[in-house]
Amino acid sequence: MPHSSSTPEQQEAPARTQLTPTMEDTTLNLGNGGLTDEDLLMADVDEVESPPVVTPAAVEPPSSAPAAKPESTEEDAPVEIKQETKAEIRLEDLFEGMDSGSDDEFSGSKTDRDVATGQVPPSSPGPVAPAGSNPDLLRVFYQLLFPWRYYFQWLNHSPQPTPDFKFREFSLWLTGGVVFRFQSYATLDLLRKDVFKHLPERIEIGPIYTANPRDRKTFRNSSAFRPIAKELCFDIDLTDYDDVRTCCDKANICIKCWQFITMAIKVLDVALREDFGYEHIMWVYSGRRGAHAWVCDRQARNLDDHKRKALGNYFSVVKGGEKTGKRVNVRRPLHPHLARSLDILKEHFLTDVLEAQDPWREEDRAEKLLQLLPDIKLRQALKEKWEFNPGRSSTAKWGDIDSVAKSIGSVNTKDLLEAKQDVVLEYTYPRLDILVTEQKTHLLKSPFVVHPGTGRVCVPIDTNDLEGFDPLDVPTIGGLVNEIDADTSGGGGMKKEGDGDEDKKGAEWERTSIKPYIDQFRGFVHGLLREEREFVRVKREREEEGGGLDF
Ligand SMILES: [Zn+2]
Repeated sequence: MPHSSSTPEQQEAPARTQLTPTMEDTTLNLGNGGLTDEDLLMADVDEVESPPVVTPAAVEPPSSAPAAKPESTEEDAPVEIKQETKAEIRLEDLFEGMDSGSDDEFSGSKTDRDVATGQVPPSSPGPVAPAGSNPDLLRVFYQLLFPWRYYFQWLNHSPQPTPDFKFREFSLWLTGGVVFRFQSYATLDLLRKDVFKHLPERIEIGPIYTANPRDRKTFRNSSAFRPIAKELCFDIDLTDYDDVRTCCDKANICIKCWQFITMAIKVLDVALREDFGYEHIMWVYSGRRGAHAWVCDRQARNLDDHKRKALGNYFSVVKGGEKTGKRVNVRRPLHPHLARSLDILKEHFLTDVLEAQDPWREEDRAEKLLQLLPDIKLRQALKEKWEFNPGRSSTAKWGDIDSVAKSIGSVNTKDLLEAKQDVVLEYTYPRLDILVTEQKTHLLKSPFVVHPGTGRVCVPIDTNDLEGFDPLDVPTIGGLVNEIDADTSGGGGMKKEGDGDEDKKGAEWERTSIKPYIDQFRGFVHGLLREEREFVRVKREREEEGGGLDF
């Protein structure tokens, strides 16, 4: 298990949060621009009665993070665990595969070329941190820009706190390699206060358990504490396309290679809707080089891991690694999902792969194409033709396959067609981090957090305008804080937290470029809540009729 955790002593370092006066005075009303019925119903959960008790009961460092060096001995300091403690730790022995390590975007160099250059307020001490992990910027972001109200509604499925929220695992990733696992919150305000306190550079979302995750140790070796629900998730990362993209590699992306994500979203989204009947699917930019899907329908949330695995298999078409050889071997006649996927993908293949990436221009890469084709005579003839025409484009080479096959005459056309279909799929079909889909317990980076390396916000992607989404145009934390600053500069600079005039002016985010993304999120959440209300109503009616409802 790649993740390490802490010794029992280190896990149990309960601490009482000492809220600073500033925090306690903060009264945020982030959703007051255009109140809806849900907003009104939500009003009471925003009340804070007492400082929250924070129990960093489960702490483990990220597998890829540098060893954290204890800096503080204060009672409420987060517990920091050195990487070297890995071997002695058995925190996760209850659960297999609970790590969230798949999305190692987090570990990418913070000095990559696309690091956002957010302005750091002059009060920032010491060297300038990357915008995405700058505490001054994070404080403003969480207090004024994060869509807390809709976030709560999204996870809670109801206006009042339910076990869906209360028993949900959150993990908070702090600057310096400290991770608080198994955090949970009885109300939105407790979550919000904890986030304001720790200013995590990343929040991850885990499953809903049968009981409070903070109490999990009291249930050790018992089935009483187990994960029962989680959105069905998908994770696509451009590093899995390094053998087919030529424009960028590793953590780098551009609009050309982003098209692989676009086509993946198209293929998965339509299949989830048409083949599985899901409706509440949210796609979220991961902040650097990929996208996540959150399928939030009740039926999807309640899938057990066997069914998740079956679903993952359904979408596992490109198999093995880069050096595996032929990675797509699908049965004929093509499954309707694959036939539909090919229809979607073939246009992208011609423009976004052959033209934009030109993956076979070099001889060694063209060799890979030859290995995917049937008929030794065909392969030999193509090889000779391409050797004779060095630098021939991938589009021309793709066209050569049919023309050369025709001139040979003996190539089986059915075999050739199927091989070409497999090539299209190998170069375009979604490549998934399958564990994210298969395991309820797998944590996934939350929407609307800021990528620490790029400073970009993990915003929802509008599937009605997929072609219009440019990851490099996504708002950055630095840019957003500057927008707030500019908006209030007439009044003497950036508004301080707790000014108390949010009511008069509306939420800060409404005057920044994050607004369309939060509006989209709000629309998504409202659609989900409508269905949840309907479910509750029908269930109640059935129960009153004495029938019960088997969901
Ligand atoms: Zn690129």
